Amino acid sequence: MNEKNNWIKEFNQPLAIAGPCSAESEKQMMEIAERIDKTLVQVFRAGIWKPRTKPNCFEGVGAIGLNWLKKVKDEFGFKIATEVANANHVKLALDYDVDYLWIGARSTVNPFTVQEIAEALRDTEKVVLVKNPVNPDLDLWIGAIERLQGQNIQKLGAIHRGFSTYKKTKYRNNPQWQIALDFMDKMPDVPMICDPSHICGNREGIFEVSQQAYNFEYDGLMIETHSHPDEAWSDAKQQIPPERLTEILRKIELRKSDDEDALYHMNLARLRNEIDENDQSILESIAQRMSISNKIGELKKEHNVAVFQPERWKQIRENSVKQGEKLGLSEEFIDKLIRAIHQESIQHQNLIMNKKNHLQSE
Ligand code: PEP
Ligand code: MN
Repeated sequence: MNEKNNWIKEFNQPLAIAGPCSAESEKQMMEIAERIDKTLVQVFRAGIWKPRTKPNCFEGVGAIGLNWLKKVKDEFGFKIATEVANANHVKLALDYDVDYLWIGARSTVNPFTVQEIAEALRDTEKVVLVKNPVNPDLDLWIGAIERLQGQNIQKLGAIHRGFSTYKKTKYRNNPQWQIALDFMDKMPDVPMICDPSHICGNREGIFEVSQQAYNFEYDGLMIETHSHPDEAWSDAKQQIPPERLTEILRKIELRKSDDEDALYHMNLARLRNEIDENDQSILESIAQRMSISNKIGELKKEHNVAVFQPERWKQIRENSVKQGEKLGLSEEFIDKLIRAIHQESIQHQNLIMNKKNHLQSE
């Protein structure tokens, strides 16, 4: 494994960043810090300025929250972290001696913003972390790191928080692991941290996604943690209590990178992940095909045309076999596959045909 940026080595254990999505009050911050296990977590996070998708939501307490972060640092010995989205945030965060500054997913998409932040941080000794952009664009993510490097910022890291999708999946932000793995291949010196909270959008998936990240040899985790998650002012559904965080961090199995067996497991995990992402897109494609076929069913019904059209089926089968041949797939396999898909389609259309419309049923 390549030499990682040195800052991450100082802990001699995987990096864990925890704390609330948003700073809400001094009492909330102190209670969370008190309950977080100091032997497992080194960095306390809290959002001070919150980039919300829609207006009229809670947009963060603002600069006053920096006093509370500082107090957490002084009383509990954590390093402290917050998100910065412009040069003024950077100035304030540096005034309060914030140790880790991160660029949020909505800022990474904008090169002007990243450049402004990078220039405000020029020559800094602080750790600067870059979340992946909201859209699945590897170059934009790498570009942000390069802008920081261009301002002589040495202690860098990346945070994988998943990517927005229009259609909702089981994740709030689809992990698309392959993009983060490609990032790691291209920038082997930049540590990779996983943010399972924003990937999952719920509490239930946090352990599984964290374990997956360690299977891929990530360097750390950032997990949103709140003393009373249900009452949180932002991202209530995904925050976990500090005691649950301790359980998760204790349960995760670390993968060693220095023996052949571990390398085998990592390669296997990477390839299996590629297969899983592939299977998912095959199924999504088939579901999309069925919904087009349902529309055809409606049309056939309107025009009183039979569902099964032998000529059309022959044409579909022939085209698929031809295409399959070019792709190195046997005729026998294509025949089975396309027949099964076509039969499912016919079944869908039959259901539509047999559905009585409102007038008929009266
Ligand atoms: C956050 O960490 O609270 C946050 C706003 O994250 P992201 O930029 O990943 O949406
Ligand atoms: Mn959040």
